Amino acid sequence: MTQAISTPAAQVLWVFGTGGTISGRAADPKDVLGYTAGEVSVDALLGDVAVPDGVSVRAEQVAQVDSKDMSWAIWQDLAQRVRAALMQPETRGVVITHGTDTMEETAYCLHRVLGPAVAHKAVVLTGAMRPASALEPDGPGNIADAMRVACAPGARGVALCMAGRVWDALQGQKLHSGRLDAFGARDGEAFAEVCAGEVSVTGDWPQPSGDAWAHALAAEAPWVELLTSGTQASARALQALISAGVEGVVLATTGNGTVHQDLLRAAEAAYAAGLPVVRASRTAHGNIRDGHPQAIPHAGGLSPFKARVEMMLRLASEQQAVLA
Ligand code: ASP
Repeated sequence: MTQAISTPAAQVLWVFGTGGTISGRAADPKDVLGYTAGEVSVDALLGDVAVPDGVSVRAEQVAQVDSKDMSWAIWQDLAQRVRAALMQPETRGVVITHGTDTMEETAYCLHRVLGPAVAHKAVVLTGAMRPASALEPDGPGNIADAMRVACAPGARGVALCMAGRVWDALQGQKLHSGRLDAFGARDGEAFAEVCAGEVSVTGDWPQPSGDAWAHALAAEAPWVELLTSGTQASARALQALISAGVEGVVLATTGNGTVHQDLLRAAEAAYAAGLPVVRASRTAHGNIRDGHPQAIPHAGGLSPFKARVEMMLRLASEQQAVLA
């Protein structure tokens, strides 16, 4: 369903709804925890939000899920619709409403698959920490901010906008389970802020990635698991996964990419035998820097969660290349 929300204007701002707390509803407006995510339609969410000058808004409901249940199939559909919207000359930008729990994964996926499609237009994801039914919901303000960012001069790339700050898809991540300003950077700063409707850009707009993985989502979702290294880590979970046919493994490592010796031995053997394995630090911030030579490559500044998305897309794109 596509619906024009505001008066027609020369340029179009697309808003795709996927669910999340931002569209959540609880029986009691004072209840900000016992709600059900993904209940309020994207059209209804836009009801009270001021639209930036010079654009008309088109809203599409892509999904209505709690983002803990985000799926490859929804990514496929979302990426296809976002790409189609970006290709229309009248499109000024795209906003996506999304649950905060996996927003950074979807943002990273879109960054990798949209490639040059966002060279001159921005895709901005936003969400909320309070449901739409709350007495003081944060969703409407976040949507208004995200719209302004998507329409800002020079806007490009895939970004996340929450509580007045804006990060690129590599940096933005959820860092707090309850605060309204739940997001922050992996290793850096927000590149822009929105205050009273004004967007101030203090860094660089996100760089689009190459388009090598544009069709990755058309493949079957590869089975990639995350294994955490830490106290008493062992090879058992890895061995079980290999026996069950896992297609790739991300090791959530300690500190600067280190792995418990018992798990490391098994992971190196698996990697040498051809299983894709990558190391990504389980620390909340920072990136892995090369120290001692290691057989298993590292994911640099990617969190384990984004490293997993990266591996899924890479394996999917390899599957596609074999089929082509
Ligand atoms: N569980 C919710 C979700 O990710 C949390 C949120 O949106 O803030 O869909």
